[in-house]
Amino acid sequence: MTVKLNRCRCGRMPGVRTCRVAEDAIETWVECAGCRARSPKIEDAYADPESAAAQWNSGKGTKW
Ligand SMILES: [Zn+2]
Repeated sequence: MTVKLNRCRCGRMPGVRTCRVAEDAIETWVECAGCRARSPKIEDAYADPESAAAQWNSGKGTKW
């Protein structure tokens, strides 16, 4: 499964991260390893890289 991610403003390619936060909940987000910019976290029963990528690509919620 591949998701398209826009390159970060710092020039690096960000990556999709996931973290199990509960028995039935996984947080998925996109994070840049260079400047630590990240998309809002999506919490769902399953990892959701498509939604996280959409958030990142729209530029919403990124923290600089
Ligand atoms: Zn960056």
